[in-house]
Amino acid sequence: MTYVGHIGKKFPNVIIDTSKCPVPFLCKKCLQICPEAVFSVSHDGAKEEKLKELDPRIDGNYIVGVVRRDKCTVCNRCIDVCPVDAIKIDYVIPKRDKQSASKG
Ligand code: SF4
Ligand code: SF4
Repeated sequence: MTYVGHIGKKFPNVIIDTSKCPVPFLCKKCLQICPEAVFSVSHDGAKEEKLKELDPRIDGNYIVGVVRRDKCTVCNRCIDVCPVDAIKIDYVIPKRDKQSASKG
């Protein structure tokens, strides 16, 4: 399963391959190193049974989420620190629209 922060061109797409990170509570390196607090760890809502708390040590019960994609500065620290290569940043610097700029 792959978690994509949001689709859109304005901000970087921060992409997590959650299949490579089944138990984020055992690592959390990306959460600790990100200066912009882009990540969070949350439970997989589809697996939640009523109000029963999910065991964070069981594979897939919790996933790394991208909650502040708009704050990402593409510093790549999270990519460097992730031990399983689960994070990708997809960002293309927008080209300036020369035609609309020249029309004034
Ligand atoms: S690239 Fe930098 S700012 Fe963006 S999510 Fe990773 S650590 Fe945070
Ligand atoms: S650094 Fe990688 S393995 Fe560790 S919690 Fe973040 S996504 Fe998962």
